Amino acid sequence: MNFLKQRFSIIGIARSGIAAAEKIKKAGGKVFLSDSKQEHEFLNLQYLKESFICEFGINTDKALEADIMILSPGVPQSIPIVQKAIANGLTVISEIEFAYRIMNKNNKIIAVTGSNGKSTTVSLIYHLLKTAGYKTILAGNIGDAFSSFDIENEYDWIVLELSSFQLELIDKFTPNIAVLTNISPDHLNRYKSYDDYVLAKFNLFKNQKSTQSAIIFADDEMTNKYINLINSQIKRFSLKQKTDAYLHDDEIIINHKKRFSTKDSLLRGPHNYCNIMAALLAVEDANINDDLLKKGLSSFNSLEHRLEEVGTVNSISFINDSKATNTDSVKNALLSFKKPIRIILGGSDKGEDFSILTDLLKKHAKKVYLIGETKEKMINCFKGQIEFETFNLLETAVRQAFKESEPNDFIVLSPACASFDMFKNFEDRGMAFKSIFAKLRNENEKY
Ligand code: ADP
Repeated sequence: MNFLKQRFSIIGIARSGIAAAEKIKKAGGKVFLSDSKQEHEFLNLQYLKESFICEFGINTDKALEADIMILSPGVPQSIPIVQKAIANGLTVISEIEFAYRIMNKNNKIIAVTGSNGKSTTVSLIYHLLKTAGYKTILAGNIGDAFSSFDIENEYDWIVLELSSFQLELIDKFTPNIAVLTNISPDHLNRYKSYDDYVLAKFNLFKNQKSTQSAIIFADDEMTNKYINLINSQIKRFSLKQKTDAYLHDDEIIINHKKRFSTKDSLLRGPHNYCNIMAALLAVEDANINDDLLKKGLSSFNSLEHRLEEVGTVNSISFINDSKATNTDSVKNALLSFKKPIRIILGGSDKGEDFSILTDLLKKHAKKVYLIGETKEKMINCFKGQIEFETFNLLETAVRQAFKESEPNDFIVLSPACASFDMFKNFEDRGMAFKSIFAKLRNENEKY
């Protein structure tokens, strides 16, 4: 039976659910959408009501009158309507599985998951393939939903960023090339245990055959723990060992021969060198020549709010790392500069222990500029050990750092905290930092 001619219900009416519903409708199939959020919470309510049969504010048993139930990534399997669907024998899948079933079977997929570095790695892979002239799509957790593209047509490569949520409900989905960047504890509120979270990520490999590839981080403990679950050809990258891709001084060595310099890229820091190595291994089957790879590497900028180079004023560099909402990310930032930086820390508290940053700050920070709700907690951690000063506003902190800087200094916003005490979100905080930079540049422009 034609897959799209079956009866579908979709739980969770957001981007991916709507994209799937549109495909089903276009193919003449039957689809019912359900979301527990109230009508008034939908900006596109009129469009939804005009286009589909849907319900809001409740998940009724109407969602069970279907053959296949598609879950949006934000919807846990534990909610009653999904449990009932499973008990009633409905096939429950994710939107990624849905898109895979309707896509042109000649399309090759590179899929990336991991706790950190997904967006940077997929964006670089996509950029390298584009630079080499391939017809390609970037979809999934980043940008638009997989189903929202014309995937019935032929593409050379489809690049997907996948979260563990999206991987929970896959069945036949098989990436030609699967990349697992690294694993660290995350989303533990949704999983029974850390191992359950790891196993959701390993779903990425479960249908792969020996002719396909799995790209993994050789230095990662959890990845190594479950490596026996991988049946495809394993390619490793490492910061410590001579594996398929590794770092030697400033050089990136691939398959013991091809060499790129880390200076060929605008990305900085060991964590980003991992992302580069993963991306270079991921595009191996695309047979891109070294010149084009170098061109792609050197023209790829870091993503916005992730160690983003904002610009310089009087030879003082401003770096926006507003996405660094935890101490791990700040560790990465501190290891990414060849000389000590002026770092702006603080924001709303997520309960982390900031003292784990103390030793690194001593070594890699010239001075710490503290803002936000976590100020007192940070003062208690750093008192007597690190030079710091506190501020009520981001702007006064940045201005003071600028005033104290010498040429070639770096002023880095890498807060180790969420932003909700002073900003809407981390993007808003990063934009505020960039507008302060713009003001300083205007004030200091020499005519
Ligand atoms: P994700 O999409 O998985 O959230 P991003 O590429 O957006 O990852 O990077 C988010 C943050 O994660 C960065 O600001 C950086 O601090 C950290 N990070 C990026 N790549 C890595 C990596 N390979 N290993 C560890 N941390 C990383």
